[in-house]
Amino acid sequence: MTIDAPLRAAVVGAGPAGFYAADQLLAAGFEVDLIDLLPTPFGLVRSGVAPDHPKIKSVTRVYEKTAARPGFRFFGGVELGSDIARADLLERYHAVVYAVGTADDNRLGIPGEDRPGSYAATRFVAWYNGHPHACDEEFDLSARRAVVIGNGNVAVDVARMLVLEPDELALTDTADHAIDVLSASGVEEVILLGRRGPAQAAFTNPELRELGELTRADIHVDPGELELDEHSERWLEEEADATAKRNVELLREFSKRPPSGKTHRVLLRFLRSPVEVLGEGEDGPVTGLRVVRNRLQPDAQGRLRAVATDLTEDIECGLVLRSIGYRGQPVDEVPFDDRRGLIRNVGGRVCDEDERSHRGEYVVGWIKRGPTGVIGTNKKDAADTVSKIVEDAEAGHLNEPVDPSAENAEQWMRSNVPGLVTWEGWTAIDEHEKRAGEPHSRPRVKLVRLEDLLGASGSVTSRS
Ligand code: NAP
Repeated sequence: MTIDAPLRAAVVGAGPAGFYAADQLLAAGFEVDLIDLLPTPFGLVRSGVAPDHPKIKSVTRVYEKTAARPGFRFFGGVELGSDIARADLLERYHAVVYAVGTADDNRLGIPGEDRPGSYAATRFVAWYNGHPHACDEEFDLSARRAVVIGNGNVAVDVARMLVLEPDELALTDTADHAIDVLSASGVEEVILLGRRGPAQAAFTNPELRELGELTRADIHVDPGELELDEHSERWLEEEADATAKRNVELLREFSKRPPSGKTHRVLLRFLRSPVEVLGEGEDGPVTGLRVVRNRLQPDAQGRLRAVATDLTEDIECGLVLRSIGYRGQPVDEVPFDDRRGLIRNVGGRVCDEDERSHRGEYVVGWIKRGPTGVIGTNKKDAADTVSKIVEDAEAGHLNEPVDPSAENAEQWMRSNVPGLVTWEGWTAIDEHEKRAGEPHSRPRVKLVRLEDLLGASGSVTSRS
């Protein structure tokens, strides 16, 4: 469906969800300004997807096609809540769509969580991917054994990154600062720790399979770890999806493999929850992880939950990466559901506590539904929200800006953001990075500092 009036939308956040929303809004006849905090687009495709997964990153070609459509503009380097305010957007655009993702990490809430050597995987991922806000962080990888807490795909990514061959790393777009540290890493063994059992692991099949195909690390799963309790057995038989079934098959296959003598290894352990990150004194570096053994028990909804037994054990290690999911942060004054860590919404319409929708405000992606699903999941998610926007447009329920013109919006944006980066600016950054990568057979060498990104974009900034 297309609409006749020249309506204009601001989409805040240029990750996959923002791009899918922009594309569908353009198709519906809107003009779109896509705004991002960083001078670079693509969100987690640039700063989340593991650098050794270039095929997944190639989805940016789809977003480049969106950017080439008439009516599209990119405004990078713009912080909502400081450079511009929510109220400013609502004054200038018929519809505002938040696609800001979930930048924070969940916390374990256990003693020792913040000891040196215990890090949030989200920060580690941002660091090795060259996110400008993480480029000065430091990760001590001198320990021989690392424990990665969590059984999701991010846990698999960080485990794999820890044991990649330096030669493999050198061909990726991993940030240079991280290549140096990862190549000199002392980590030889990575334990992936799940609080529930093998049948409940959140890995997808290709990611788990890849753990068994690493160049310099053997995979090790003790057959005893794969003995299923009666609940899991029944669940796997009667309710589980194909992914969970295949995961268990893959794990059983791994458990039969003898070690092939590789220098490194990745171990999977299940039914254990961390209860304390161990170390000397209150803030000495990590020396181990105390875990409690769990059993599974169905809750009132039939979901199998981990319940602690009274058996504990200590795992000696010098590095802990906590990979237990992302969490959203509040954006300016947009209604926020603190309990869920999401923008409050009903089906993509931003609403207040009693579910009354806010005129002209919408949400897509992880900050709408939570940090789940793969990149493509955001396409359907964005389509659902955009259909509501079109419905509201037809019913005359969008904002009514006094001057909604593209010129007015750009003038206002430029007066607030001295270092504004447009799509042309990003193209200049992109070409610069690719050129730097060419002699080394790398897809690109990332610029990781804001001033360097702004310099390469040609944007003149008065920010320090
Ligand atoms: P995730 O898939 O939700 O996994 C989070 C893991 O943390 C689960 O195993 C969860 O266990 C565990 N966990 C949560 N709270 C815990 C606690 N207090 N103690 C111990 N364990 C705890 O999240 P993710 O790995 O961050 O990934 C986010 C999304 O991005 C996922 O949809 C993922 O598939 C996607 N992703 C995809 C790729 C790819 O396609 N290559 C790569 C990276 C990420 P329970 O199940 O027991 O809650």
